[in-house]
Amino acid sequence: MPSKPPVHRPAGIGDRRQQRRAYDHQRDKQEWRGWYKTARWQARREAQLRAYPLCALCEKAGTLTPANVADHVDRHNGDYDRFWYGKMQSLCAPCHSSEKQRQENEHGTQRR
Ligand SMILES: [Zn+2]
Repeated sequence: MPSKPPVHRPAGIGDRRQQRRAYDHQRDKQEWRGWYKTARWQARREAQLRAYPLCALCEKAGTLTPANVADHVDRHNGDYDRFWYGKMQSLCAPCHSSEKQRQENEHGTQRR
């Protein structure tokens, strides 16, 4: 399976890159959803699950469960740097759903 090497941008285009990032952000705040479909994300996810094959939350609770989700420890909210370079943890599917719910609640979006 071919895999693309990381893209290296030449120095000196920082301004333009920032402008484009701001533009992209306004144009489509959900752009990050597409990042999950990239080969780059697949590689990052696989590396995470290879390095930590067990669910981090189950392990804390004293159970060894194979993980199948690479989860961002901190919500990335579409932030490029957090998405690609933020801390990751391996989770099993049930822990991942409850972890996401917990974060939503903390975030206050569902508070009544
Ligand atoms: Zn778990």
